[in-house]
Amino acid sequence: MADRPMYASYVSSPLPRPWAAVHGSDDRFAVHRIYCVGRNYADHVREMGGDPSRETPIFFTKAADAVVANGTDVPYPPRTTNFHHEVELVVAIGKGGANITVDDALSHVYGYAVGNDLTRRDLQAEARDKGQPWDSAKAFDNSAPMAAIHTVEQVGHPTDARIWLKVNDEIRQDSNLSKLIWSVPEIIAELSTFWRLQPGDLIFTGTPDGVGPLVAGDTVTAGIYGLDTLQHRIVAVSV
Ligand code: MN
Repeated sequence: MADRPMYASYVSSPLPRPWAAVHGSDDRFAVHRIYCVGRNYADHVREMGGDPSRETPIFFTKAADAVVANGTDVPYPPRTTNFHHEVELVVAIGKGGANITVDDALSHVYGYAVGNDLTRRDLQAEARDKGQPWDSAKAFDNSAPMAAIHTVEQVGHPTDARIWLKVNDEIRQDSNLSKLIWSVPEIIAELSTFWRLQPGDLIFTGTPDGVGPLVAGDTVTAGIYGLDTLQHRIVAVSV
């Protein structure tokens, strides 16, 4: 078989690598993949009509370039009339690996951030009812706003902290990380049996109850005690 020829250029320009900010630094965290956990708080499983004693958490993904920097306007997406917020703890992976053990999992974490797993709820319900994929409900453009990552050195490993989200001045979500069904080490261990984790991976760990609709003009503010607060507006798209 002939040697593979050396090509000099791409036929389309490679886009810059998506990245997330690092708290207290000019450094950038280069994003490799975005993994998400669904159904990881019992109260949220119930509000979605499920039974947390029968349904285990699940994984889905978003494209890396769905990340939106803190403070950046998010356009109301097309093809939905029920666009929802989901505040989540985001884990940033600093050291890769497959089949990571629960005991070793936290050594793979670079840091933590606040994220919003934006969701086209109407398309998710339709996909669920028809047994179809979740991509159009979850993995759309600008669907992953997140605040700066705090390093483990800065913040440790938060396990008992308030997680909340408000729309304009109204508190919509108000819970605690201690209610996660799968803990962060358990998520990393389980996820790494499906995919080899790489430095630069982000994991959105699931949302507590209180999810609800957003409309153009809303300001979303979301926090986890000890981490930078995330804030962004929802803006109408001019066509
Ligand atoms: Mn979510």
